[in-house]
Amino acid sequence: MSLRLFDTAARSLVDFEPLRPGKIGLYTCGPTVYNRVHIGNLRTFVWEDVMCRAFRSLGFDVTQVMNLTDIDDKTIRGAIAEGLPLRDFTDRHIATFFEDLKTLNVIPAAVYPRATDHVPEMVEIVKKLTERGHTYESDGSIWFRIASFPSYGKLSRVDLSSMKRGARVADDEYEKEDVRDFAVWKGAKEGEPESALWETELGKGRPGWHLECSAMSMKYLGETLDIHTGAVDNVFPHHENEVAQSEGATGKTFVRFWLHAEHLIVDGEKMAKSKGNFYTLPDVLARGFSPRAVRYLLLSVPYRQKLNFTFDALRGAVSALERLESLETRLGERAGAAGADGASEAFRGRVEEARRSVRAAWEDDLNSAASLGALFAFVKEANTALEGGQLDPADAAAARALLREVDGVLGVLAPAEDASLEAEVEAKIAARQDARKRRDFAASDAIRDELAARGILLEDTPQGVRWRRKS
Ligand SMILES: [Zn+2]
Repeated sequence: MSLRLFDTAARSLVDFEPLRPGKIGLYTCGPTVYNRVHIGNLRTFVWEDVMCRAFRSLGFDVTQVMNLTDIDDKTIRGAIAEGLPLRDFTDRHIATFFEDLKTLNVIPAAVYPRATDHVPEMVEIVKKLTERGHTYESDGSIWFRIASFPSYGKLSRVDLSSMKRGARVADDEYEKEDVRDFAVWKGAKEGEPESALWETELGKGRPGWHLECSAMSMKYLGETLDIHTGAVDNVFPHHENEVAQSEGATGKTFVRFWLHAEHLIVDGEKMAKSKGNFYTLPDVLARGFSPRAVRYLLLSVPYRQKLNFTFDALRGAVSALERLESLETRLGERAGAAGADGASEAFRGRVEEARRSVRAAWEDDLNSAASLGALFAFVKEANTALEGGQLDPADAAAARALLREVDGVLGVLAPAEDASLEAEVEAKIAARQDARKRRDFAASDAIRDELAARGILLEDTPQGVRWRRKS
């Protein structure tokens, strides 16, 4: 089988081949750095990480570029509200964004360009667009004339009949379905801080949000990208406008494959601060869930389906992870046991079959649910074989290697050195519980102190004893 992806522009599954054999250039729209990202944003970013890892597992060399939108209406409003220069304001939110990515075990992109570091590249695109007759000036700003680009709407299939001739919109984001000429360069306005304005050949002002992504994607990945991704709400107007600007400036196809992730909803409803169902990653972790469980839940639903985030589903993720980890621990013990008497061909065949099924799932439009399904079918077989005492140590080692290999894409298991530490700590906790049952508090305190000396803190909760590393 070969890799098939659902291309938003084609509205269908399409065989994927990169422009250059074996190499994928991937642009993923990054966050607007004006607040802490919420778990809905993180669903998209985790999916993009899984995508990169899956492509690599299929043998591709991937270059991921993710921009940071550090100049737009929202960041300027935030900087003004806090009385900070724009860069100081956005630096803070960039730091927490990277913190969240790291917590969720996201492999960093090759480069995270900041819009404010690429204003000259944006000016160049506006100049090219002007040479080619796609812009006009009005109210001190430069506008993209949609009527000059006949294929406008080909990505989003937005209804062009709602287009009002010469109607313009200055906001970076505007009402869906409302097609308007949009600003590529915004002339300086009264009340805008100096830290958010640039003196350029186009006059004093700042770039439009859509232009930022056109400039940064083409700078790092060339004028034609293999894949461009984002969340579904980016399709229109953001990505449609990126196409118009990029193709208007270069005359070349901008993006060969468009992939978009569906929204995350909470308890079946749209997430909103007003509904009290709005969560950041620290909000969720504060309820005692591990980052790995959050990552598991976020990637467990195929990206083109809405993900319904509930705490029940998160508890489900916790137990799914426990099954994986418990199997891994026992496979590790079995693999290390003596008395090997040769691998069983039947079991090795099942390992290979599981490997093929997982691969086929990734090739089928990055189907994470099917990949987990294949993995858990194998977990069941391996458990049965272990419990029946039929698993040869070499087979156990092969099964464990498969788990680790699949996790190279999923990224949900504790790192191998942590796994053995975890088993050891769990054993100590059990011994401490026994001591407390015997009312041997000297012994239970000694175990607690021993762990504390190693930087491991125990916490007694109604759900049992939890442990964490001293930070
Ligand atoms: Zn973008």
